[in-house]
Amino acid sequence: MLEVAPVRAFKDNYVWTLRDQTHAAVVDPGEARPVLDYLAAEALRLVAILATHHHPDHVGGIAELVAKTRVPVFGPKGEPIPALTEPVSEGDRVSIPELGVTFSVLDIPGHTRAHVAYYGAGSLFCGDTLFACGCGRLFEGTAEQMYASLAKLAALPDDTKVYCGHEYTLANIDFAKAVEPGNRSLAAREQRDRRRQESGKPTLPSTLGDEKATNPFLRCREPAVVESANKYLGSRIVGPRISDPIGVFAAIRDWKNRF
Ligand SMILES: [Zn+2]
Repeated sequence: MLEVAPVRAFKDNYVWTLRDQTHAAVVDPGEARPVLDYLAAEALRLVAILATHHHPDHVGGIAELVAKTRVPVFGPKGEPIPALTEPVSEGDRVSIPELGVTFSVLDIPGHTRAHVAYYGAGSLFCGDTLFACGCGRLFEGTAEQMYASLAKLAALPDDTKVYCGHEYTLANIDFAKAVEPGNRSLAAREQRDRRRQESGKPTLPSTLGDEKATNPFLRCREPAVVESANKYLGSRIVGPRISDPIGVFAAIRDWKNRF
């Protein structure tokens, strides 16, 4: 069973650290210092670095880690990842033999042009695309692309553990409640995740089952979400009602930006 430790970086980033008793691989090391401290404290040897996309808060620590450890760096083909040695895209496999784990690479553009996710051992490392109860902003892609990327992730098994790049969950739940005030699973999730935060624990990983039940960005066909998207649009523009899921997605993504 894959052990995954949360190493915190900056204010709310996670550098997910896959480990056994002697080896570690890190996902999205935005900073080197907390990773080096963790490896030293736990007497672990770094064996691989995985990057989901090129934003500095996800790759800023790679150069320093590689200078000290010379490990393979996996990251999206077509994005400027520092010290990239293994460019990957959809269909590629990433093996970390020291940890006995292999991941499939999924292309999930939208937040950035060539953002990837790593899926394996029942776990999904999805960077800034799918968040707990939310999704990433559309910096380099379109609503269509992001919607398709989220749909691709949502098609994975419900018990898949979701490891995303930031601790944004409670703020995302506040927005989700505005979109879907009557969602009981969401109310239960809020209680659970508030308790976790109050005891100083991450709200992550969640599961894809949790996300499908509570994340408005995965629920664009739900009548309550369609209704809220139309109310939001109606308050901003005069136009025909929307019901297509991509239109609904684009509306609530825009609403979240202003929330
Ligand atoms: Zn990002």
